[in-house]
Amino acid sequence: MRLRNIPGAGEAVEKSPYCISDPVSYRGRWQDVFPSPGPLHIEIGMGKGRFLMELASLHPGIRYLGVERYSSVLLRALQKMEQAPLLNLKFLCMDAADLLLVFSPGEVSRIYLNFSDPWPKDRHARRRLTSRQFLERYAAVLSEDGQIEFKTDNQDLFTFSLEEIPAAGWKLLASTRDLHHDPVLMEGNIMTEYEEKFSSLGNPICKLIAAPER
Ligand code: SAH
Repeated sequence: MRLRNIPGAGEAVEKSPYCISDPVSYRGRWQDVFPSPGPLHIEIGMGKGRFLMELASLHPGIRYLGVERYSSVLLRALQKMEQAPLLNLKFLCMDAADLLLVFSPGEVSRIYLNFSDPWPKDRHARRRLTSRQFLERYAAVLSEDGQIEFKTDNQDLFTFSLEEIPAAGWKLLASTRDLHHDPVLMEGNIMTEYEEKFSSLGNPICKLIAAPER
C-alpha cells in the first residue's frame, strides 16, 4: 500500500538507501531495518535532519527514524547522510497522520516534535502535531514507558499544547518556557535548525515532556 503521493524530489528520495520507500510493509518489524536491535525513537517533522543526525551519532544503541512530509526538504537530509552515513538512522517521507499504518502498538519508545507548524487558525487546530487527535495517534504506537518531547518558540502553540495534554488523557512530566536558561532540561540539549535560528533572534525556546496516562 502506498501512502499519500509526494511530488517534486520524490524520485530521488524513493531511490535513496537511507529512505524507506514502503514504510507500511515494516509495521511491527522495524527492527529488521537496522543491523542490531534497540529502542526506536522517531522525530516527526524532522526538516533537514540535523537534530537526528547528531542524536544518532551520540547514541548508536538507539534506532532513529526521521519522518518528514516533503521530499524536497528530506532531500537535504539524504545529501548529508551520503557524506557521513549512520547505520542507526533512516528516513520516512510521509504524513504523520498515517502513523498508525506504519507502527504497531508499543513499537515506538520516544517521539520528538521540534518546531512543528503552528497552524494558527482555530479551524486548523486538529492539524497541529500536539493536538489531541495527534496525541491519540502517538498513544497508540508508544511503548509502556514511551513519551514525547516537544520544543517550539511559538508561545501560542505551546499554551495550546499544555492544554491538549490533560484533555487527551496525558500527563505532563516536565515543561519550561525558557529552555536555554533551564539547567535541568537543557542538559544534553541538541539544537535543531529552527531552534538555532529563532533563539539567535532572541526568542525564548519552550519545551515539554509528556506521556500517555496508562
Ligand atoms: N524539526 C525541524 C524542522 C521544523 S519545520 C527543526 O526544528 O529545525 C516543521 C517541519 O515539519 C517541516 O519540514 C514540515 O514539512 C514538517 N511537517 C509538518 N507537518 C507534518 C506532518 N503532518 N507529517 C510530517 N511532517 C510534517
